[in-house]
Amino acid sequence: MKNYIFCPLCRTHLKKSVIDGKERGYCPKCGFVNYKNPLPSAGAVAVKNGKVLLIKRGREPGKGLWALPSGFIESGETPEDACSRELKEETGMDGIINRLIGVYREGTEVYGDVIVVMYFVEIIGGELKAGDDAEEAKFFNKEKLPNLHFNCFNKAVVEVLHEN
Ligand SMILES: [Zn+2]
Repeated sequence: MKNYIFCPLCRTHLKKSVIDGKERGYCPKCGFVNYKNPLPSAGAVAVKNGKVLLIKRGREPGKGLWALPSGFIESGETPEDACSRELKEETGMDGIINRLIGVYREGTEVYGDVIVVMYFVEIIGGELKAGDDAEEAKFFNKEKLPNLHFNCFNKAVVEVLHEN
């Protein structure tokens, strides 16, 4: 995970101190504290006719590996908004959110901890087309799913498949 050496606000060299019970970098000039909070993201177990929609990731982490459509939540978006937007951007498909599957923590090298809000989505339309972030988008038989890049994706799929 990236670590600040200089203050991102005023470029002063950060110092270290225990703040809110943990050692953190802080700026002695402007008071910036380098809190390392997990990043919120949302993803979809998107299903059509019993098949699960996967993407082959086009960027790190996990470039070239199969995963569920997902991405970071933008400011102003609800987790549901982000889920639907990422589904559309990465696969070209439209879906309606059926329900929340669960909320997971995933540790990544690039971004540190990521919180992933996973939804069960029913595909209702669209045209299958991999977006900029994906090399490929494809429906898989749920009996023949490849291993997915993030553990939380595998867990979410198992949760859904147990019920359907
Ligand atoms: Zn500063």
